[in-house]
Amino acid sequence: MINVDNNDTLNIMPWKIRLEASSFCQLRCPSCPNTTKAIHPVVGSGFLKLSDFQKIIDENPWLKEIELSNYGEIFLNPELLEIIKYAYKRDVALKADSGVNLNNVRESVLEGLVKYRFRSMTCSIDGASDETYKVYRVKGNFETVITNIKKINLFKQKYQSEYPRLNWQFVIFGHNEHEIPLARKLASELDMNFYLKLTYDDKFSPVRDQEYIRKLVGAASREEYKQKYGVEYLHETCHELWDNPQINWDGKVLGCCRNSRGDFGGNAFKDGLLESINSEKIKYARDMLLGKKAAREDIPCTTCSVYMTMKAKGNWLIRPPLSPGEFEHEYDLEKLQIITPRKRDFKMLVTPKFIGHYCENVFEDFISDLLMLRSWIKNKAHSRTMWVKKVIKNRINMRKIETRNNAT
Ligand code: SF4
Repeated sequence: MINVDNNDTLNIMPWKIRLEASSFCQLRCPSCPNTTKAIHPVVGSGFLKLSDFQKIIDENPWLKEIELSNYGEIFLNPELLEIIKYAYKRDVALKADSGVNLNNVRESVLEGLVKYRFRSMTCSIDGASDETYKVYRVKGNFETVITNIKKINLFKQKYQSEYPRLNWQFVIFGHNEHEIPLARKLASELDMNFYLKLTYDDKFSPVRDQEYIRKLVGAASREEYKQKYGVEYLHETCHELWDNPQINWDGKVLGCCRNSRGDFGGNAFKDGLLESINSEKIKYARDMLLGKKAAREDIPCTTCSVYMTMKAKGNWLIRPPLSPGEFEHEYDLEKLQIITPRKRDFKMLVTPKFIGHYCENVFEDFISDLLMLRSWIKNKAHSRTMWVKKVIKNRINMRKIETRNNAT
């Protein structure tokens, strides 16, 4: 039995969740916690069952979007095609933007992604040649991945569909930094968004041309990013505790995609989704991240570097003043789908130094503006930054006025 705290108003009812389809992976990327087995005590090894997926959707009809990827490879789940079909039937958008390696996928599944409007997928491809790709994606094959992407594109033509939108994620290492321009070009030819990411393991093949990487992503390592901006790289992950909590393949509530330290109690399949994501423990964690409560030993965040940096700097998470579930009514899901793959582009355009936490907290407000920005992304690299800054300033002013009006 989980301990649900109903004594305050902070229960959440998000319209999207993260639900891992598979914690198995066939590759052996050297730094991955799946390879090192660091995640195994809590995450374990398994596949999301179709029956559990159906239960979650049937019992929570307000759910509009589910992210399926996290630690493992979703395409290893033998019931994936049925899961995709069921989501389509129930009008729930599926995404795999935490990453897929796309090495082993059945043709029927590739077709199903397009036919059943799988919304977006991020492919982890750290190189532009097989030789380079294999250094980190051990047991993977670059050509196979590219062939699978081409097949998806052919199905997109056949079904006259823009889905799934494809992203190319390139984790930067010393051994692959020279292939960034070629990978970017290939991504464009394959109609994929391209973005770069700093590795979390600075010891494995550290970047060589630090100045070059700094120019591209603002810092040459995650540690440098932290020193420069006062927050952990990808620190926005903590918002998942409110906006799209991570549920493990077996129903355990992990809260965010980064957490493999322990769960928050409760099981989304057995105890109910809302009960599990509003347990006493996870609500306490939310208060901890806002700086309202002290660290507690049984809360997984307590030993997470993101929380520890926040605590050390007193740089607590700031949440927008919106009520839970409000996004569901305010925004059109199709628009969100268009915007989501661009969120990372957006974060690169506006440096954390300029906008700090604020940019993330009012991010949802920018959706309509970003729809316009979308057409700028490809060609007007120089002027778009100024444009975004202008939009943000306006939005912040609007928010200040709203807050003032609400207070009076
Ligand atoms: S502090 Fe760490 S574990 Fe907790 S929500 Fe943030 S990223 Fe996840």
